[in-house]
Amino acid sequence: YEAKKTGHQVIVYFPELGHRARELSEMSKRIEKALQSDEFELYLQPILSAFGQQLHGAEVLIRWRKEDGEFIPPNKVLSVAEQTGLILPLSQWVVLNSLKHLKKLKAHGFSGLLHINLSPKDLESKEFYYFIEMLVDLDPSMGESIIFEITENAVMTSLNAAREMMSKLSKMGFKFSVDDFGTGFSSLVLLRELPIDQIKIDQSFIKNMLNETTAYAIVESTIFLASRLNCNVVAEGIEEKDIEQALIKLNCDYVQGFLYSRAVPLDEFIQENLM
Ligand code: C2E
Ligand code: MG
Ligand code: MG
Ligand code: MG
Repeated sequence: YEAKKTGHQVIVYFPELGHRARELSEMSKRIEKALQSDEFELYLQPILSAFGQQLHGAEVLIRWRKEDGEFIPPNKVLSVAEQTGLILPLSQWVVLNSLKHLKKLKAHGFSGLLHINLSPKDLESKEFYYFIEMLVDLDPSMGESIIFEITENAVMTSLNAAREMMSKLSKMGFKFSVDDFGTGFSSLVLLRELPIDQIKIDQSFIKNMLNETTAYAIVESTIFLASRLNCNVVAEGIEEKDIEQALIKLNCDYVQGFLYSRAVPLDEFIQENLM
């Protein structure tokens, strides 16, 4: 490595780190530009009642296809945004454009919940809170149509901040869902401490529930736990009919997965679910 003296500080450059930092900063510039020029798109994936398969809601999932056609997975976009301070503008963009989608969905008779994923940083950010508060001032009934999906890790980094913000948002009518339930370290603490309405069982348990007794036991217990806590429960990542049938037997409330539909653009969602 190479060391440079700048004033009183000695900065040590690891070539590997330099490369990563450069990649990060390039990527963050592209995200910033993409935000300004509306290159992102919000796709929707239906969430159905397990029994009867009625449309219950839609999860908003961000998509980014660059000008050159390259598709960048959301996890990558989010991880860069979280590391570079772009998460606030990105989350704001997602919320604003989700509201535009919601308006069109409602015009086509949609009366379900729109699921919006939040990032860890959002729940600690006063600015994000003021942003939501401003939107609620403009439309006081906004909260009733929205459920925020949060992950356990999101909340555990600063439980007090999250608790405070979530309780204020709950009072405004917003609901909260614990996403990827079971993959974090403190799922149960969350359920005790926070205003949670819904549990989404992580895909990894759902996918393996019929060939792994442990996965099955976890799914079964989570559904039972949810019912005891007056939460509803969504199984995500359903790709097979057998798994759907097993979930119905266990009294799972809602289902989501490629078996029903992938996330699709707004117009397609309306065509397939509301016409
Ligand atoms: P997530 O919130 O757990 O979303 C579910 C992911 O599983 C989505 O991937 C969805 O396309 C995928 N999926 C749904 N059904 C199936 C299935 O049957 N099989 C398989 N193999 N996959 C299925 P996606 O869109 O790539 O999103 C990945 C993650 O990125 C999301 O996980 C969420 O954590 C994050 N994300 C996506 N959009 C946003 C956003 O607007 N804001 C934030 N903060 N995070 C987002
Ligand atoms: Mg989600
Ligand atoms: Mg999930
Ligand atoms: Mg996830």
